[in-house]
Amino acid sequence: MASKQKIAIIGAGLGGGAAAVMLQQNGYDVTVYEQAPSFSRLGAGIHLGPNVVRILDRIGIGEELHRTGSEPESWVSRMWDTSAELFTLPLKSVALERYGARYLTVHRGDFHALLIAAINADSIHYDKKLTGLSQDGDGVALGFADGTSATADIVIGADGLNSMVREAILGPEKPAFTGVVGHRAMFPASAMKGGLIDDVTKWWTDERHFISYYITSSHDEIYIVTGVPHPEWTSERSWLPCPKDEFRAAFDGFDAEVQRLIDHCPDDGITKWAFYERKPLPLWSEGRIVLLGDACHPMKPHMGQGAAMAIEDAAMLMRCMEETGLDDYRAAFALYEANRKDRASLVQATSHSNEWLRVDTDPTWVFGYDVYSEPLKMPDGTATN
Ligand code: FAD
Repeated sequence: MASKQKIAIIGAGLGGGAAAVMLQQNGYDVTVYEQAPSFSRLGAGIHLGPNVVRILDRIGIGEELHRTGSEPESWVSRMWDTSAELFTLPLKSVALERYGARYLTVHRGDFHALLIAAINADSIHYDKKLTGLSQDGDGVALGFADGTSATADIVIGADGLNSMVREAILGPEKPAFTGVVGHRAMFPASAMKGGLIDDVTKWWTDERHFISYYITSSHDEIYIVTGVPHPEWTSERSWLPCPKDEFRAAFDGFDAEVQRLIDHCPDDGITKWAFYERKPLPLWSEGRIVLLGDACHPMKPHMGQGAAMAIEDAAMLMRCMEETGLDDYRAAFALYEANRKDRASLVQATSHSNEWLRVDTDPTWVFGYDVYSEPLKMPDGTATN
């Protein structure tokens, strides 16, 4: 049964947004504080594997994502210079039956907007950048950049890579630049005769890759995302515009199909994003404060599973709260960490090595994970009854 404790979620990104929807749907008293003054439709795509679509189906937005997003026939890995096939993973024909949910590629902004629309509108407060928090036996005091303050019984830190909440419980530590950046671009499919060669393609060398996919059900929008080595990142910003010549040079010698895609990317619409990571954290909660998503385990985006991990975290956190009751929040948070840390750390490590689906791979451990029925283990490693 939902507790009447006041829960504050810091950050209304994909993880915080999903946590807010789930908790409110289950009767919890939730308030969300987001630093952005509003959200715009960020021009990016996102993969949603069956492991996360299962959760989105449960919270009621899976059908709409299926209606608007692309359900790819398959994932195809190809050689960088010849486009020779390395591995093909059928998706559309098998995902629902084998993993219990669809595999979708969608517009990230549309997905985020659906999540935000599912949160009680009067419970989200924008322009609320958390700048300080302290807890005692009675609750948590929150301070914001605009000089206002609030209190809560429980705080969920879903504030992403540079999490202020993480810093409050573990001290200041910048995330590590991975030495890899990713280009992003998007353009209408009508601009490219014949469309994509596959619904999703990843071209691989040992040190860089180029990915293209559709993000709408009508296949009218194409999204490009890459990974290339980059010695350092000195900007304070996480992304910068990328001149087309620099983008083209990064894929010199790649197959003609890649060159054709680069040709169609809008000259002024290419961006370059720095990728950061952290080592697995020594703790995921302290007292009344708990972390999820990138605040807890940021990773390279090379498996397309970062948001999925944040949303799985949110679902498991709620499951553990239901299991112990939120009055015993320490037990709930310990149970949550015990049931999430190994998986999130393994996905972090697998994303780091960037080998996922390059050659024949069984994806069942990722796609088949069901956060709702996975047997729970106790913090000491034993099984729950
Ligand atoms: P975020 O989405 O970063 O949200 C954090 C929120 O907290 C933001 O809204 C921010 O404004 C807010 N915030 C921050 N600080 C404060 C503060 N002090 N006070 C108040 N609010 C604050 N994942 C996938 O699953 N599939 C993919 O295909 C995929 N592709 C990716 C491609 C690229 C190029 C990149 C960079 C990432 C990709 N990811 C993908 C990863 C995914 O985007 C992240 O893992 C995911 O967004 C993490 O969600 P989050 O809610 O933890 O953090």
